Amino acid sequence: GRVLLTGANGFIAAHILSQLIEHKYYVIATVRSESKAQELIALHPQWKPHVTFTYVPDLTKEGAYQAAFEVGDVDYVIHAASPTDFSVTDLQEQMIKPAVEGTVELLSSAHKYGNSSLKRVVILGSAAAVLDSFEYTVKPRKPYTETDWNPITVEHAVKQGNVVLAYCASKTLAERAAWKYMTDHTPHFDLTVLDPVTTIGPMLQPVSGPSNINGSNLFDVYSFVAGQHQSVEAARFPFYHFIDVRDVARGHILALTAPAASNKRIILSSGLITPQLVANAIRKNFPDLREKVPEGTPEAIVPVDTHPGDWDTGRSREVFGAGWECIGLEECVRDAVGSFLEYQERC
Ligand code: NDP
Repeated sequence: GRVLLTGANGFIAAHILSQLIEHKYYVIATVRSESKAQELIALHPQWKPHVTFTYVPDLTKEGAYQAAFEVGDVDYVIHAASPTDFSVTDLQEQMIKPAVEGTVELLSSAHKYGNSSLKRVVILGSAAAVLDSFEYTVKPRKPYTETDWNPITVEHAVKQGNVVLAYCASKTLAERAAWKYMTDHTPHFDLTVLDPVTTIGPMLQPVSGPSNINGSNLFDVYSFVAGQHQSVEAARFPFYHFIDVRDVARGHILALTAPAASNKRIILSSGLITPQLVANAIRKNFPDLREKVPEGTPEAIVPVDTHPGDWDTGRSREVFGAGWECIGLEECVRDAVGSFLEYQERC
């Protein structure tokens, strides 16, 4: 089969691309420019025979994906391109708009240019579209399920000038727009949205230097390796559950063909992640890094006054079956740090 993958040079997408090739799919990959494709292939030359790149400099533009669909019959689409840069200044223009309009354009391109071979579009959403930004970590509550939606609005996010809220709004509104597109236009393919929690782990994407590491790895793991935390107690994360990037990619491969994934959103989560758990995992597995990573209080796992909402992962287990077990935090952090050290050597 043939899969169209958007944003193929991203952290998660590079793992999806790798696993698609492993599973013998041919991939039509979109990136913003030719140089981004070249960087990816330079790092993974063995992928070259299995992928054709098309360039989409502006994913909100009408017909953005026409050329990609014209490469050949597409059986499945995976949409992974969406703003993740927390250093942007114009939250509406640089974060919310490309996420929402990019998603609608993807579905509309699939509808217009995807022929009858196209069976399913899988969108890489986010648990940020499920949790409640106004009470997440503030007070204990029952685990989130796929019936929950983040009540965040653009007005709230933009008025507060808060980039985490703007990211949550971008993912919430993009996913809402996707489901609305399906209801309004009833295209010939079905839709699955995967909503993973914070995704971290080893990197396959091109990274030119430490500042270029993808945001979730940078914030939750690399900041410790780089010695940026004076104390563990003072550290806070925007979100407190994690899943390994290899599991997120595996979920995408399964979601292409799992009959029960049809027209569902599916939460993906492995377990809790806190600054203390990350510090513990790094100090245990990398004794050389102990001087950079403060010890904190190893058994005081959750930061004081923080009540991370938990996640009901029943649907993922139901849809993906008995083999759906996720990599634990220690292995995930160990392999993430291992991949930073490898990059440092190469750079
Ligand atoms: P990356 O930053 O590594 O990847 C983002 C990808 O999207 C890149 O290919 C990037 O291209 C592309 N992109 C971003 N903005 C634009 C834009 N305006 N126009 C065109 N392309 C754009 O992040 P991740 O791999 O972590 O994220 C991928 C997806 O997964 C996103 O949808 C994110 O919301 C979602 N997600 C991520 C989680 C995480 O913790 N990492 C958790 C849950 C969901 P370029 O390199 O050219 O900028």
